[in-house]
Amino acid sequence: MIDLADDATAAALLAEVPCYPVPPSGRSPVIDALRSARSGQGLAIGQAGVMLILRRPWLALDTYVTGRPHAYLPYGAGEKEKAGLRCGLIPHEHLGQILHHFREALPNEAAAFVIWNEVTREFAVRFPDIDEATPSRLVYRTPVMEADWHVVCDIHSHGTGPAFFSTTDNADDAHATKISLVFGRLNQPGHENMASRLCAGGMFLPLPRSPFQGDNHAA
Ligand SMILES: [Zn+2]
Repeated sequence: MIDLADDATAAALLAEVPCYPVPPSGRSPVIDALRSARSGQGLAIGQAGVMLILRRPWLALDTYVTGRPHAYLPYGAGEKEKAGLRCGLIPHEHLGQILHHFREALPNEAAAFVIWNEVTREFAVRFPDIDEATPSRLVYRTPVMEADWHVVCDIHSHGTGPAFFSTTDNADDAHATKISLVFGRLNQPGHENMASRLCAGGMFLPLPRSPFQGDNHAA
């Protein structure tokens, strides 16, 4: 075993986010182990750049965090990016329940969480404790999860205003691994709008589609 650091704390931190070169063949047991892990993260360095491989029970994310290196590296090409929901798409009725709750709260903003149980694979909706709600401000707390349950989506409304991520939203989402959704124009049923992103690894990534089954809101 090669020591990557000369003290135990630094070694433990590095072990939390291991970094591996992609072999020229493309196949690597340690990179495969990162991809199949229940939960964890690490980096794979290939010709295409440095890829973050991040896993949660509900999420599989492979995304490049750098461009292609200018230097020649005798490494493999690296895999394609992907972002997949291991939990599957969220049942459509949960979206209806959440939008109903948001409309009931008008003119105030409101919030909801979609949570998922990795053992039973069921989804549920939780409406959080609200500390303060006005038409332009909302303070709420992420629910404490019981064993096997995970927050998949953190959702809030902007009432009758447009859906977008505010500076406050960016600060709230900076350190989380979750899907973040905002709904706006809730006084215009059928014309409400949605903003969405995947928060992971300190990044905000576009979602390729809505996480809800059969949802036509552009992601
Ligand atoms: Zn907001």
